[in-house]
Amino acid sequence: MSSRDGSAGGAAATARWTGMRGLAQVPSYVILQPTTLCNLDCAYCYLPFRAADRRMPVEVAAAVAATVNKWAERAPRYSVVWHGGEPLTAGRAGLAALMAPFRGVEHHVQTNATLIDDDWCDFFTAHGVRVGVSIDGPSDLTGQRVDRGGRPAYDRIMRGIAALRRRAIPFAALCVVTEPRPGLAVRLYDFFLELGCYALGINVEEHEGVNTRSTAYPEQSVRAFWAELAGAWRAAPRIELREIEWALRYAGATLAGAADELLPRQHDPVPTIGYDGRVVLLSPELAGFTDPGYGDFASGNVRETPLYEIVAAAAAHPGGWVAEYLAGVEACRTSCPYFGFCGGAHAANRYFEHGRFDGTETDHCRNSKIRLLEGVLDHAGAN
Ligand code: SF4
Repeated sequence: MSSRDGSAGGAAATARWTGMRGLAQVPSYVILQPTTLCNLDCAYCYLPFRAADRRMPVEVAAAVAATVNKWAERAPRYSVVWHGGEPLTAGRAGLAALMAPFRGVEHHVQTNATLIDDDWCDFFTAHGVRVGVSIDGPSDLTGQRVDRGGRPAYDRIMRGIAALRRRAIPFAALCVVTEPRPGLAVRLYDFFLELGCYALGINVEEHEGVNTRSTAYPEQSVRAFWAELAGAWRAAPRIELREIEWALRYAGATLAGAADELLPRQHDPVPTIGYDGRVVLLSPELAGFTDPGYGDFASGNVRETPLYEIVAAAAAHPGGWVAEYLAGVEACRTSCPYFGFCGGAHAANRYFEHGRFDGTETDHCRNSKIRLLEGVLDHAGAN
């Protein structure tokens, strides 16, 4: 395995971040699942119950808001992210009722855009909702986004995005890339420049949840993809491009001897509140799954315990899989030259790839952390 032998190794190895990281007592945002249902059935989706319409009762949202409203009072901005399933399948009246108990927060939806029309645009405007859409590029590259009849969703997605553009509602885009390879990045970046999004996140497909497809892609292909994307972005940096900007920031900080300052000193617990009130910390992808050894991964239920108590208890006394994950992050810190850039990546990827949380390298971190940094440095070295 040559992941530590690449051109990034020298720069990454200079990071000297030390000190065990625990969980923060206050998350920087929360994720809520208004429904498990999705009207699409994308080939790479990880969600277990996307064909079932299990809806969040208002009492669950109200219990979350009782804590979140206090957190929001003390923060300049506080985000509540509605993420399903497809959150718009909860309907405008349903979402409005769930949002009603919240005060002083910024609402976000991550949507497949297929249901967006003028009425939804009115809703977004009236509720100040920030919109993120999921689309994977031109029609052939978005071909894995299909409905339950196997029909491509691309035209419906583009109609929804056209409605946003017509109404001048800003939107970010999230793009899943299967098999990153040279030639793909420029095509993708040109597409998103045309699409009109203000920000773009690139998620290399992940082996997690009910998606068990292999994501062990060829190292050189993935690295060349990221290098090409860095070049495309630097030629026309009109979109906030999450991964490339973070990698360049890290590389710049490393050269300035300040990389140690970039990683937060504590893990953001990022609570995901499932439709039924169960709270899963750190990785929303674990919500809805159960394991004979780890149970349902929940740290509590807001119907029984205030959210702030659930998060505080996990931060003070991390147990079970959370403690195992923190041990895994420590193993990364002592063994991986990319740790200063990556910070240990995500709990769900460890679980779904290794079956436990204290392993280190995963296909996810190779594709989306190690190869990313290597590719961006390849680009910088060649220019
Ligand atoms: S998750 Fe992977 S890239 Fe990140 S620190 Fe651990 S081994 Fe390194």
